[in-house]
Amino acid sequence: MADDPFENMLAQMDRAEEYADVDHGVFERLKHPERTLKVTLPVELESGDVEVFEGYRCQFDSARGPFKGGVRFHPSVTQGEVEALAGWMTWKTALVDLPYGGAKGGVICEPKELTDRDLERLTRRYTEGIRRMIGPDTDVPAPDMNTDPQTMAWMMDTYSMYEGHSVPRVVTGKPLEIGGTPGRVEATGRGVSLVTERLFEYLDRDLSDAAVAIQGFGNVGSNAARLLDEAGANVVATSDVSGAAYDPDGLDVAALGAHVDAGGLVSEYVAGDLKGSADRSRWDDPDAITNAELLTLDVDVLIPAAVEGVITADNVDDLRASAIVEAANGPTTVAADEALTERDVQVVPDILANAGGVIVSYLEWVQNAQEFSWPLETVNAELERRIGDAFDKTVEQYDTKELPDLRTAAYTLALERTAKAHEYRGLFP
Ligand code: GLU
Repeated sequence: MADDPFENMLAQMDRAEEYADVDHGVFERLKHPERTLKVTLPVELESGDVEVFEGYRCQFDSARGPFKGGVRFHPSVTQGEVEALAGWMTWKTALVDLPYGGAKGGVICEPKELTDRDLERLTRRYTEGIRRMIGPDTDVPAPDMNTDPQTMAWMMDTYSMYEGHSVPRVVTGKPLEIGGTPGRVEATGRGVSLVTERLFEYLDRDLSDAAVAIQGFGNVGSNAARLLDEAGANVVATSDVSGAAYDPDGLDVAALGAHVDAGGLVSEYVAGDLKGSADRSRWDDPDAITNAELLTLDVDVLIPAAVEGVITADNVDDLRASAIVEAANGPTTVAADEALTERDVQVVPDILANAGGVIVSYLEWVQNAQEFSWPLETVNAELERRIGDAFDKTVEQYDTKELPDLRTAAYTLALERTAKAHEYRGLFP
């Protein structure tokens, strides 16, 4: 049951309810998304064929402010997944205290099979499909899986064309040249690294030379790997869809990054088939392992940074990491969570660990409203302050209320904040 992302999110809420100071009626209201729009997207591909895609935008809750959340392009997108992700955005923005609600969008497609022009047309058609729902003060999309600053530029342009003037504030994660902020691309990975450092301080453990395994080497995983490597940790394994690389002495994160930036796969890196400027002389001979094996490595920290539902009742007993930092959204099912709590494995939940992205999205939106841009140092300092505060409040809640785990602590804070907003605003009419 809980392998379904939406059921999993509801089960996480239920686990927290008994500890949260929330009226049961309001709590029940929080379990339902405000609305989900399904759109049909016929697109003429570069090949001349017309393909009909399907997309969604779910607006989960707006009691605390405009809806906020990314758009993902992936073959496994479903309405339920988008709704779960929109719920997680609601708890995330509440936990890190941004004046936003939660939303998410998704298009069912395999971007690897589409040309740049196909992707542009699909993005524009999707934006047209949801444009009556989104807006700079109503719902503000951002990048997620397989979407990036270029995708946001197309969304911003399409929306602006209909409005008759430029509306940079309608999306975040834009290229710098059209109102993006420095630091947004690496923000989620930076947040993951900052939270991991905080966790080690909290546990009174030394991060230098701690062994870290990161599942996924996309935007989030690769930036987290680079920043944790710089912070002194030892990144021993990482992966992509092609497989995982493992070296107990530590991977050459910079070389792997250069290889992947040039379009290379992790499996090619392991085989020595290096792309771009990746420096073969510094290459450190990792072993090829599978994504499933990566999850069960005996490491100090496991960072799932790919898809949801990878830590389940089926593999949780084989996991040997002493801590988990959830860079992906929803990587752990509730059944696995209960087993980890029992074994005292600290799990920094997704709504805290990966909040760096939406925090810097907010900073971009604020700069757009001010029509003023901040230097990278200001953005990074504000990110560190905000995610650090959220981490401190979560562990304080965990310690003082003697909660079972950090996720329950994070959820109680998020649910209480969102419920308070509902109580103050009341029911219309
Ligand atoms: N897609 C990111 C997330 O899951 C960022 C969302 C945003 O910046 O609005 O948190």
